[in-house]
Amino acid sequence: MPCAPAATDNNALLQQVVYQTEDAVLITDVAGTIIFVNPAFERDTEYLAEEVIGTTPAILKSGIHPDDFYAALWATLRNGEVFRGVFVNRKKCGERYSEEKVITPIRDAEGAVTHYVSTGRDIGARFAAQARVEFLANHDPLTELPNRTLFYDRFQHAITRSLRDGCLPSLLYIDLDRFKPISDSLGRGGGDALLVRVAERLRSLTRSEDTIARLGGDEFAIALEGVRSPADSARIAQSLITAFQQPFEHCGRPIYIGLSIGIACYPVDGEDVEALIKHADIAMLQAKSRGRSCWVNYSAVMDSNLLDDLSMDASLRSALSRQEFDLHFQPIVDPADRSVVALEALLRWHSPSHGMVPPSRFIPMLECNALIIEVGRWTLERACERSMLVGDLIARGTILAVNLSGRQFRDGSLVDDVRRILQRTGFPPAQLELEITESILIEDSVAALATLNALKTLGVRLAIDDFGTGYSSLSYLRRFPLDTLKIDRSFVVEMESSHDAAVVVRTIVSLAHNLGLDVVGEGVETAGQMALLSEMGCRKVQGYWFSPPCTISELCAFSGQTAVADQRGAEGGVR
Ligand code: C2E
Ligand code: MG
Ligand code: MG
Repeated sequence: MPCAPAATDNNALLQQVVYQTEDAVLITDVAGTIIFVNPAFERDTEYLAEEVIGTTPAILKSGIHPDDFYAALWATLRNGEVFRGVFVNRKKCGERYSEEKVITPIRDAEGAVTHYVSTGRDIGARFAAQARVEFLANHDPLTELPNRTLFYDRFQHAITRSLRDGCLPSLLYIDLDRFKPISDSLGRGGGDALLVRVAERLRSLTRSEDTIARLGGDEFAIALEGVRSPADSARIAQSLITAFQQPFEHCGRPIYIGLSIGIACYPVDGEDVEALIKHADIAMLQAKSRGRSCWVNYSAVMDSNLLDDLSMDASLRSALSRQEFDLHFQPIVDPADRSVVALEALLRWHSPSHGMVPPSRFIPMLECNALIIEVGRWTLERACERSMLVGDLIARGTILAVNLSGRQFRDGSLVDDVRRILQRTGFPPAQLELEITESILIEDSVAALATLNALKTLGVRLAIDDFGTGYSSLSYLRRFPLDTLKIDRSFVVEMESSHDAAVVVRTIVSLAHNLGLDVVGEGVETAGQMALLSEMGCRKVQGYWFSPPCTISELCAFSGQTAVADQRGAEGGVR
């Protein structure tokens, strides 16, 4: 490599500049023979000075540029003008690189051109950066899948092609089931890594002509081309769902991610990309509400149901701040003397636009949009405050039961919320019973056990609601720190007419007693059901036979602060 002379005068300084500049400098004589190259040239081309001096710049030709390009270059230079351009050249190793070059004719004192000097810089890195910017404009940076913009474009082309080849492009709108809690449980970066693997799996399951895109968050879309009938799309959707039943592995433990898929087919379900995406999205929401891990074909009927849901969802978002929620309390009584042993707080929503909406309709919506955390917190706090107004019920040790939803249970703030609410309201922890469902315990039993233990340390009671409808696993009854089993209404309803239902109830009652748990019969509507439960040894019953859920003032009015009754008088009333 040539070394720089010491800078003793102007000439030496100029030489140093040429040696040290970042740009590749090449000087030829007027005939085009190379007489000098600087170290930057050596670096960029990987040729040593002695290898190129005496040759011509043609040594760098990549063969990319047509002859016209060089003809224009020489014409410019012979005219004594400066030539500027981007050259794709070839390094000594054969690799191509892009060089932005300026070639200047150098004149002597008389004005005659004696040399040409070329200064250039390798703009490969800039090209790569530019290419990346272009890539990112059309792709998702995390999974490198096409993004929404490119997806629209490709799907539009598929539609155009279909007019020629008679195929029916269709669109699968995919949402990952319960991605948020799963991602949260994987810790920092775990969710992103899982999304990348989901994308890889989707890619491996589809054909190269199909476009998979990440639309955002945990939503993906697949444009299926070459589909001959809607049944083909359904078959493909089902095969994806089946393939996702295989767990992913994360740090040695299996992670299950289900897919909910909405399908919209061109042209029946929409005539342009916009409409098809919208309709496949609607169908996907239906798949969610049908229990997830399934596919649903869009049908126009869905629109009106969904519009209802959307409008209700919008009202629900402001229901808390507009004070549209209220609580009713249903007594749970001892059939022996009809005294109230517990009250279950039940949420009520009076929507100005939708009327009284039953919890079975709005609670799943709150679950879906995560508002259940905030509303659940409000319910618990309000239930503690309000129940303290019912005379001496608390003094008599009456229990207050409050339902917890799955999402609330899995939310990291639950234990702190319960602690804070108990402190603020002064409600006795031993009289608060939190009701959860069996499915919560099954989904992630390790995390569930930790949460239940943390709640137990606060001194509260824990109940399994609707027992018998889920997994009814005997192992969790032993492992989890439970206090109460609530037998689902469906068994109680059939108890009188079905021998089997009666046997189930009797078995649950004795199982609970043997495990030292309290047991509540839910949904008691007749004297016969009450008598049967009482005979089986069930000491807590809840149902319309005694009282429907009612307001705190109704409870106080019935009881005169000592008894809570359903106005059945001596037969059905409670004290
Ligand atoms: P659940 O916790 O099992 O509550 C008992 C449900 O049975 C209540 O329905 C109650 O009104 C009804 N019920 C009680 N006795 C009878 C009877 O004799 N016959 C009949 N047919 N029904 C009876 P509700 O208030 O409509 O609540 C339904 C479900 O909504 C609750 O079932 C619970 O799962 C959920 N829910 C209610 N309030 C809340 C809440 O604050 N938070 C959460 N997460 N869920 C709630
Ligand atoms: Mg309940
Ligand atoms: Mg229940």
